[in-house]
Amino acid sequence: MSYNLYRAAYGYGFDPYYILILIAGVLCMIASYRVNSVYSKYARVRSMCGMTGAMVADEILRRNGITDVTINHVSGNLTDHFDPRNKTVNLSDATYNSTSVAAIAVAAHECGHVCQHAQGYFPIQIRSSLAPAASIGSKMGIPIIFLGFILSFQPLVRVGIIVFSLAVFFQLVTLPVEFNASHRALVMLNEYGILAEEEVSDGRKVLTAAAMTYVASAATAVLQLLRFIALNNRRRDD
Ligand SMILES: [Zn+2]
Repeated sequence: MSYNLYRAAYGYGFDPYYILILIAGVLCMIASYRVNSVYSKYARVRSMCGMTGAMVADEILRRNGITDVTINHVSGNLTDHFDPRNKTVNLSDATYNSTSVAAIAVAAHECGHVCQHAQGYFPIQIRSSLAPAASIGSKMGIPIIFLGFILSFQPLVRVGIIVFSLAVFFQLVTLPVEFNASHRALVMLNEYGILAEEEVSDGRKVLTAAAMTYVASAATAVLQLLRFIALNNRRRDD
């Protein structure tokens, strides 16, 4: 490993940001463990209405007059998502055919995203238009920054920081989108009489645990960005 690469990777060792990033990394692991455990707890709680996740999604879309979105069954664990490009609500094995409170909450959350799109909710519009740039930023940002450090070429580091910050901004915009989709989901489940009062509060626990994984990863990304900016400034002062 070259001296410069070594310095880029470890040279500043345990600076305050490095420790914060480690803490945020641990929080990511805790959040991901927690969403799995909360989900599996409420995946065993059968809802009183007896509807499956797919039936609930269908009901919510119908009630909102949305007819151009298809509900699909996809494999995997917690892989549920709404894809605005082909207008599909994709529900995983654990959600599609399950009548649990967890499945219903997750299905309703994905329909919350559908409603955001249908109603032109501003943060999801920003998020969608930012998605391609953010995907490049998350793949290329850190390699460009490291290359800049290796070559000791400040302008390249700055380009990398700008590219990476697109990915960080995307993660930040994701937060209101996620919290709003969960809020919409719980209001609709209550309003349409799909879940009873206490079931709604159990559903909220599932969706809040899921949202925490987004909060933890956004915090990690922000701290990484701050660390690169700090390292670059220190470089300049060397
Ligand atoms: Zn979501």
